[in-house]
Amino acid sequence: MSDAEQAAPKFPLRLDRMTLQARKLAVPPAAQRSASVAMKPARPCSPAPQDPLIRPQRPLHEAALDSRRVAVPAGLGLDSHHVRERMLGRLAAEGVRDPRVLSAMRAVPRHVFVDTALANQAYEDTSLPIGLGQTISKPSVVARMIELLIAEQRPDARLRVLEIGTGCGYQALVLAQFARQVVSIERLKPLHDKARDNLAGLRHDNLRLVYGDGRLGHAPNAPYDGIIAAAGGDDIPGAWCEQLAEGGRLVAPMHDALSGGQVLVVIDRRPGGSLRRTLYEAVRFVPLKSGVG
Ligand code: SAH
Repeated sequence: MSDAEQAAPKFPLRLDRMTLQARKLAVPPAAQRSASVAMKPARPCSPAPQDPLIRPQRPLHEAALDSRRVAVPAGLGLDSHHVRERMLGRLAAEGVRDPRVLSAMRAVPRHVFVDTALANQAYEDTSLPIGLGQTISKPSVVARMIELLIAEQRPDARLRVLEIGTGCGYQALVLAQFARQVVSIERLKPLHDKARDNLAGLRHDNLRLVYGDGRLGHAPNAPYDGIIAAAGGDDIPGAWCEQLAEGGRLVAPMHDALSGGQVLVVIDRRPGGSLRRTLYEAVRFVPLKSGVG
């Protein structure tokens, strides 16, 4: 067995173990270095009380109210440069810096991915219902997660990315703006079909939609330089880590035993194959489910 194999943790990766590792941050740096899986969170593992809770998924009763609110998009100028620039301005003000993320989000018309009745809210920083109890994530959360996903990659890197949870297809198309290839998996057939329809009039040659259980990843196109999940489970499926390329990064929401909520988890596969896990802020995503529906 190689050193890298020995260093790799057992799957599935349990947050309670990761949390234990994270708590070790209180111990001296020398002790941290001796751990087989080093954890160096850029932010505290449990969010400080003043940290805003990012809510990419709105409570369902609010989403239902939204879907009943009829608005007429005609004449709102949703295609206009101006409306999208305002959203970009807000993202930049909130600290989104990566030009790849900003220009990708500038390029993708979010209003095309939401129901007509909600199109007038498409450029607000809010999640919106997309049917079957699922939601399109808030723009600020999409930006934050993609920024984390590519933070360590060279600006000219031609990335292969796997997205779990296509939903309406918005984030998949944002990823496709800078990635060499994006594979996006959805377990609900009506949403898989809806994403295909939404994308029909938009350029997406490097984006492949797959109908299936994303917990298994998608081995035929592996390994991936980036894996990003839009739904959170109790653990990080082993298949995702197995399909992560060396130098690649995985970003996903995951249940946090300590708070009872979810946190963002980042897993890096370092040269040599070992994995490093870092916990970030609290988030709120729809559940990662097994099987297809
Ligand atoms: N990426 C979307 C967000 C979709 S919401 C956006 O652009 O905003 C999350 C999606 O994950 C839902 O459509 C849900 O059906 C899907 N999902 C949940 N568990 C899954 C699984 N095991 N495999 C694939 N998709 C899954």
